[in-house]
Amino acid sequence: MAGCTPGGQLEQKGMMTDLHSIHADPSMAGMVKPRVTVMDHPMVMEQLSLVRDKRTSQIAFRKAIYRLGRFMAYEFLRTMEIQEFTVDTPLGPAKGGQIKGRDRIVIILVLRAAIPFVEGMYKNFPMARTGVVSAWRGKPPDFPIEVSYAKIPEVGKSDVVVIADPMLATGHTLKEVAKRVMKQGRPKRLVFFSVIATKQGIDYVAKEFPRAEFYTCAIDPALNDHGYIVPGLGDAGDRSFGAPH
Ligand code: URA
Repeated sequence: MAGCTPGGQLEQKGMMTDLHSIHADPSMAGMVKPRVTVMDHPMVMEQLSLVRDKRTSQIAFRKAIYRLGRFMAYEFLRTMEIQEFTVDTPLGPAKGGQIKGRDRIVIILVLRAAIPFVEGMYKNFPMARTGVVSAWRGKPPDFPIEVSYAKIPEVGKSDVVVIADPMLATGHTLKEVAKRVMKQGRPKRLVFFSVIATKQGIDYVAKEFPRAEFYTCAIDPALNDHGYIVPGLGDAGDRSFGAPH
């Protein structure tokens, strides 16, 4: 197991190795160095393999995305501050602790692929306030973003905003969503949760939001001409809910 400090920098504790923090190429002088954490716990790896597999059924795919949301939220709690206190057991005082700010989490659900992802996250972020954004990515090469629905709660300065979208591909959608979130207030932390990301997408978003934190289960090497991640897992929305006619 491993802990991450807020900001995604790895904090090694004993034998903890299941999270690791990576950064964009540090030789890119003058460019932002995104704060990226790849969650590579064996449980994550199993579910990730399932969602990548083209033979996985719609139901099994959706359940696996749900589990990934649950696991990621669970691991993410390591990055929150702990309020320590003394608890009295029947035999004497012992060290106790409580996660601070768990009630300050705001999830932004990007339709439609994030629905099962966020459902899983609620298991560990049960009090999260939630915003919903429907964003449509247009054609390459510009990938213009059209937002048809956005309901975002007010964001306070002690909030931790988690923008959830299973696929961080070009980064165009998430940058637009984050800009809208920022209009509702400046959070303490701006966090992106994805199942699969690309370095290109992370760099694109991080250029606009250099202090943002990126948590993902994998970083894939390429994007195709349509802006799909390769090898990725295909269309996450279609695989969870079926392809539209
Ligand atoms: N959205 C998806 O569902 N899949 C991709 O590979 C990229 C964006």
